[in-house]
Amino acid sequence: MEYRSIQDPTLYSKSTTFVSQLPGKVFFPSDRSYDALRQSWNLLNDKHPAIIVLAENQLDVIKAVSYAHQQNLPIAVQATGHRGAGSVDGAILINTSRMKELRIDPQAQTAWIGAGVKWGEVLQQAQQHGLAPLLGSTSDVGAVGYTLGGGMGWLARKYGMCVDSVLRMDVVTLDGTLRHASPEENSDLFWALRGGDGFGVVTGMEICLYPVSQVYAGNLFYPSQMAKDVFRRFRQWASDAPDELTCSVVLINYPPLPQVPPMLSGKSFVQVRGCYAGAIEDGEKLLEYWRTWQTPAIDDFKARPFNEADAISMDPVEPMPALLSGEWLSDLSEETAEALIRFTLPPGGLLPQGGPPAILSTEVRLAGGAISRIGPDTTAYSNRSEKFIWYSVAVPLNPQMGAQIEQHLQELRAALGAHLTGKVYMNFLEGDELRRRTPDGYSEKAFQRLRQIKTKYDPDYRLISSFDIQPM
Ligand SMILES: Cc1cc2nc3c(=O)[nH]c(=O)nc-3n(C[C@H](O)[C@H](O)[C@H](O)COP(=O)(O)OP(=O)(O)OC[C@H]3O[C@@H](n4cnc5c(N)ncnc54)[C@H](O)[C@@H]3O)c2cc1C
Repeated sequence: MEYRSIQDPTLYSKSTTFVSQLPGKVFFPSDRSYDALRQSWNLLNDKHPAIIVLAENQLDVIKAVSYAHQQNLPIAVQATGHRGAGSVDGAILINTSRMKELRIDPQAQTAWIGAGVKWGEVLQQAQQHGLAPLLGSTSDVGAVGYTLGGGMGWLARKYGMCVDSVLRMDVVTLDGTLRHASPEENSDLFWALRGGDGFGVVTGMEICLYPVSQVYAGNLFYPSQMAKDVFRRFRQWASDAPDELTCSVVLINYPPLPQVPPMLSGKSFVQVRGCYAGAIEDGEKLLEYWRTWQTPAIDDFKARPFNEADAISMDPVEPMPALLSGEWLSDLSEETAEALIRFTLPPGGLLPQGGPPAILSTEVRLAGGAISRIGPDTTAYSNRSEKFIWYSVAVPLNPQMGAQIEQHLQELRAALGAHLTGKVYMNFLEGDELRRRTPDGYSEKAFQRLRQIKTKYDPDYRLISSFDIQPM
């Protein structure tokens, strides 16, 4: 599985035929636009590919992949750079951010989405027809990248994972061939792409949309001192939640930054977060469980148009160094809650010297519902029976802090001990951990099948995907 590296000063002159095939779209480290094009949303992803191809359409992708095939070069793909992937140094990076094809079919309730389209663009157009895609906590991520990892959003318990809504995908496999992947054509590839990430460069996908225009959604903020009581009560609430309700419990240390609202800045909260996609009165009634218990410090659960879905999680949009780590939990017992609280809300609040806390937020989302009604063999995404997914987000501002956070997360894992299932959700991991834990993202059977399909479509393992699925 040896491939050539192309860190070669004479590369440009060697690649003249390739450059002439894609005028103005091929960039080398010496080019002025190179740095801007290799930029990622996640600043931990500091990549230095040998060549960047700024693809505008399917044909550009075919040419770039074919060139890599002829030259036996590795390839990587980036839409927004939200994920800290493996090293792409020495590879051809195909930047898909200009592949903005987007067609909504309101009658069929479907959308065709190009590789560079972000969820926000799909959401805004779909909402004009009273329809919604199964986007996640932020509309700023790429629709295709999110879907390739599974895709769990605020409508997940009602309509399932985003992979369950994919009708077909177009993908350029490593030999430079454009293939249609659907239940009828290349069905093995279609199965693998729904959760297995890269088996080629996906140029576009067709997905189902759902009739959701108004939801009852938001957050209840309680003082962090109430965290144990809120977790206990959340466990009860979650035990008989209807499928219309997708919800989570979150611990957040809001950093003392100018962009954070003063009422939150420098303070820690425990939040009950959710989205009810049914009749507004029923959503309001569900919330009585909390409102008749204790008055929250802030209550912004309300009826909202679904195109305000970003207001539920309020994820940051500006590029930042973000580290995600988590695992499926076997329960949300007192012990589990206690460990999550202890490691997220340090007794002294923020770290000494007023620096940011080791963990910015810890969230436990309730899964189940429509996610678990699909058989585990239907798609490569196969961890469907677990109910609670934990993930923590940290912002390592420097390598020393990064090492400190890794250590802290390891200690948290040790404290969670028997309450971890050993199974992970790939979209909630980053970087080395994501690659190392790839087998845990699937059932054993699914992982073996993924490796077989990888052997067929990428036998030399030239695609540097975020996931580490090696050919056999
Ligand atoms: C703030 C934040 C919130 C998030 N919220 C959620 C959430 O609610 N639910 C959820 O499920 N996930 C969530 N995620 C995870 C997110 O879905 C993944 O990070 C996803 O990979 C981002 O895709 P991207 O294209 O934007 O990123 P990129 O970094 O551009 O791509 C990530 C990877 O996807 C693959 N890829 C992307 N495009 C293609 C393509 N055209 N062909 C082949 N491979 C491709 C590549 O392996 C690439 O390395 C969140 C991430 C962040 C940072």
